[in-house]
Amino acid sequence: MPVLEATMTPKSAHEAALHNFDLAANELNLEPDVREMIKYPERILEVTLPVRMDDGHIHRFEGYRVQHSTARGPGKGGIRYHPNVTLDEVKALATWMTWKCAVVNIPFGGAKGGITCSPKDMSQIELERLTRRYAASILPLIGPDQDIPAPDVYTNSQTMAWIMDTYSMTKGYPIPGVVTGKPISLGGSLGRNEATGRGVFYTTLSALEFLKIPVKGAKVVVQGFGNAGSIAAQLLHEAGAVVIAVSDSKACIFNSKGFDIPKLMAYKDKTGQVLGFPSSEEIQPAELLALNCEILVPAALENSIDSNNAPSIRTKVVAEAANGPVTPDGDAVLESKGVFLIPDILCNAGGVTVSYFEWVQDTQHLFWDTQDVYKRLEHIMKVSFGDVLKIHRDHRVPMRTAANMLGIGRVAEAIKIRGLYP
Ligand code: NAD
Repeated sequence: MPVLEATMTPKSAHEAALHNFDLAANELNLEPDVREMIKYPERILEVTLPVRMDDGHIHRFEGYRVQHSTARGPGKGGIRYHPNVTLDEVKALATWMTWKCAVVNIPFGGAKGGITCSPKDMSQIELERLTRRYAASILPLIGPDQDIPAPDVYTNSQTMAWIMDTYSMTKGYPIPGVVTGKPISLGGSLGRNEATGRGVFYTTLSALEFLKIPVKGAKVVVQGFGNAGSIAAQLLHEAGAVVIAVSDSKACIFNSKGFDIPKLMAYKDKTGQVLGFPSSEEIQPAELLALNCEILVPAALENSIDSNNAPSIRTKVVAEAANGPVTPDGDAVLESKGVFLIPDILCNAGGVTVSYFEWVQDTQHLFWDTQDVYKRLEHIMKVSFGDVLKIHRDHRVPMRTAANMLGIGRVAEAIKIRGLYP
């Protein structure tokens, strides 16, 4: 049964997550009973969110919170605001969170949330009303020992502050540990904002070292110049790499000599886009992916690399800052071309790792300095990269399967030791 499932072509993000689960579970020879217990989400909450808009009418939004696993600790995972959010996508993202927390060996399970909405078309006050209604609706599921949300695409520290406030008001006292990715003034951690990009940077350096490619002069292409993508670009730029192309939802830009990344970040902050940055040439999305480079960083959304565009890719390393950017069909093409993949559940795990640090600091009411956060993050990312690489080499499996084997193996161990309730 699992072998057959693993050879099917997945049609959605959740099917892709299940497909990759089967590949790793087969390598691990995981017992059928254990597979049944850990493959599917533990809890799914679907909520209807009526919100009064600025023009006075009431608009109905749909939202979700999925807890995939709490076997190793409280649920943990971000909240996404995007027009294409679906329950299927949230289930996939929650599943990946479970394996990701286990890969970096932090004591959390996996969860995720999302609201189908167009945040760019909404005012701040509409976003606040939507967020507070959503927080109130998922209240039975969340809590510092139950399930701890964080930012994801088009949500940020302000969104987390509203959730923390809504939750705290219902309990009657401040509970900062209910969310991570908060503003520093509310108990956020130093280094959290840049943690995902920094983790991408550390794992990319480890991959380059393994492949004996010098970082100095390495050409980098970044799809999705947001939080994760821009910080990864900035750190690679500081290390001497040359970022030759970046994109956002509006456009792709190119400069063969490389961009001044701090200036590009300031330009994007000011104008809300990368298009029009001085000395840049606009190119098409397909051209961006096909650029000759050492490092390609997909940092936007799922399924951006598939069997249609993967054949044109000319990079040595794909560093998956985004969750699920390569489809299983795309994986097969990249594998056949000898591209070295740093899989999402390893590559972008810096975000949840510093979220864990934030939760620890909130719980202990004792805060660390930035260098302490960076040092601990670097250690965890490098150890985790080494653990995944070892499985990749020992078992001769793709890096994605190796990462899934590490994560799924740890969750399976926890499930087996806990036993079956009742
Ligand atoms: P973000 O909202 O800060 O940035 C997303 C960027 O992608 C934006 O610049 C947007 O314009 C761009 N984008 C959207 N559609 C695009 C398209 N079709 N082509 C090119 N660019 C496009 O979000 P983020 O937090 O950086 O998240 C990006 C990815 O990283 C997501 O997959 C997210 O799940 C993943 N991730 C983020 C974190 C985190 O801590 N922020 C942690 C782990 C994983």
